[in-house]
Amino acid sequence: MCHHCVIENVKSGMLSRRDFFKGTAAAGVAAVAVAASPTPLFAQTPAKAEDLTHEIWDKFPTYFGGQQLFIEQKFSHAKDTFNLNEWRISEHTGTHIDAPLHFTADGKSVAELPVEDLIAPLVVIDIRAKAAENEDSQVTPDDIKAWTDANGDLPDGAVIAMLSGWDAHVATDKFRNLGDDGKTMHFPGFHVEAVKQLLEGTSKAIAVDTLSLDFGASPDFIVHNTWLPSGRYGIEGVANLGSVPAKGATIVVGAPKIKGATGGPARIFAFV
Ligand SMILES: [Zn+2]
Repeated sequence: MCHHCVIENVKSGMLSRRDFFKGTAAAGVAAVAVAASPTPLFAQTPAKAEDLTHEIWDKFPTYFGGQQLFIEQKFSHAKDTFNLNEWRISEHTGTHIDAPLHFTADGKSVAELPVEDLIAPLVVIDIRAKAAENEDSQVTPDDIKAWTDANGDLPDGAVIAMLSGWDAHVATDKFRNLGDDGKTMHFPGFHVEAVKQLLEGTSKAIAVDTLSLDFGASPDFIVHNTWLPSGRYGIEGVANLGSVPAKGATIVVGAPKIKGATGGPARIFAFV
């Protein structure tokens, strides 16, 4: 095609596009009204991103105590001119998702979580002071009230995160923090009464910087059993929550899209 023809083609393309927009202007108003989200994904242009994800390695502390990530090299650069590993990993390893299917017979798998639930305003409830004094601390309705007293109502469709400061212990035994009985763990989590309160609102997920949505000494997974059957999800082992504000950040949850999975390691960001 000659230079002139290209220009003419572009021109006519622009014209027909203009006609298209003109012709559909009336319908366009209605379409925009439908397409516009009542809650924009980002309230403001973010200035930076924080990584809320722990690096996973084979000895990453686990709820059950055993190794949950195994890496086997299948190809090596020296021998094969490229590197490639194969993993065997528990779905609930490292910074990871608890999908509704984790604690229900037929709830949503992690792959079925709608994308609009994976991007949300991030609410950070800071219980570091009481967690430092009492490792069995839980996020209670009083902690939620302290947050709303300081910051206003919980945003619609938020992810509510517990900041206990426990991520700092990830490389030590204190992350699991086995008690003297050798089987009961002691780390913070959500209290079921706080979770019941959140269920009355629009929160999409709860998140913790420990190994479990329930506090470590919980005998019955009551928070898991209360929250996940509602069709909402959880995030465990979140890192770096101390770097984001109590209010105003947007969380982006890179949940794995693995068919039928009850959860899975996720790369999680906060845009601040
Ligand atoms: Zn869990």
